[in-house]
Amino acid sequence: MNLTSVKLHRYKMDLVTPFTTHAGTVEQREGILVEAIDSNGGAGWGEGVAFSTPFYTPETVDTSWIMMKDHFLPMIKGSVIHHPSDLPKIVEKEQGHQMTKAALEGALWDLYAKQQNQSLASLIGGVKSAIPVGVVVSLSENLHDLVPFYEKQGYKRIKVKVRKGYERADIEAVKRLSSDISIMFDGNGAYDEEDLENLASLDDLGLLMIEQPFKAGDFYLHRELQRRMDTPICLDESIGSYHDAYQAIQLGSCKTMNIKISRVGGLTEALRINDLCEASGVSVWCGGMLETGISRAHNIAFASLPTMTIPGDISASKRYWHEDVIIPEVELQGGQVEVPWHIAGIGFEVNRERVSRVTQETFTYPL
Ligand SMILES: [Mg+2]
Repeated sequence: MNLTSVKLHRYKMDLVTPFTTHAGTVEQREGILVEAIDSNGGAGWGEGVAFSTPFYTPETVDTSWIMMKDHFLPMIKGSVIHHPSDLPKIVEKEQGHQMTKAALEGALWDLYAKQQNQSLASLIGGVKSAIPVGVVVSLSENLHDLVPFYEKQGYKRIKVKVRKGYERADIEAVKRLSSDISIMFDGNGAYDEEDLENLASLDDLGLLMIEQPFKAGDFYLHRELQRRMDTPICLDESIGSYHDAYQAIQLGSCKTMNIKISRVGGLTEALRINDLCEASGVSVWCGGMLETGISRAHNIAFASLPTMTIPGDISASKRYWHEDVIIPEVELQGGQVEVPWHIAGIGFEVNRERVSRVTQETFTYPL
């Protein structure tokens, strides 16, 4: 790929509103933008989506920064990379750090697609010119105002973070506030074995799915719940790799899977999981994080695959940011987001002026 350097941009941006889940609250987002540069001066962008503290996954912005600088970039320097899918083999000697690995691989995918003069969506086999999208409402937000507001904006699916012990009341409240939007809730691993029967009793609510009620890595309780209800159980935090997805499918722990490129270590692994789910009859959708337009652009390409039949977490830029780092910003049109087929790479230009305004620190590694 004729890489000449990789530049890291450590940023900090304010969220439009604080975002609260059972795991914690985020008001200001810190992260790392990765810029891979080739000998023609071309640049590809990826994003490290670990949080400032390890409340969601063990990785943090600090650990990502160190792992990139001191481990993965030196490993890349000593290797020949013809294609972005070469990267997982290079970095697999070091355990974990999926979000960090995914950030580096993301920058290579964008750059590679640009070198091929092809959109990332078409490069990976996407077929959709527009994708229906969903929105996530956090615990700290006012459902009474937001549910009708998002439905009016055209979102096809709403994901709520219900209060533990008040699931039925919260979901019924959302149903009263909406007319035609699919509803699901995300447990973020807040439940335990004692909650099994209560969760199973929600089967009559007609939810699109229940996402990750039990802890990451707990395939047993998810299987027990899936056995007790028709509502699909969806796994999120439990799936950190192809092998996790394989186990979940073999055990019958879920009927659907939220694939996050960042959580599984990159697009190469995400595509493998997507193919496994397709072959196994497990439905898939593209999950999102509190992330900038760079990750969002990667997700839009991923969500353009024919297997992505459920609206993902790909909301408009304005949902989270006063100003995003891409041009144009992601906008909804009739509840859909357009896939930028005609533009090489991720299909959005990076707003360098905005990036430099929010960047706290940079680091350039010559290759
Ligand atoms: Mg989730």
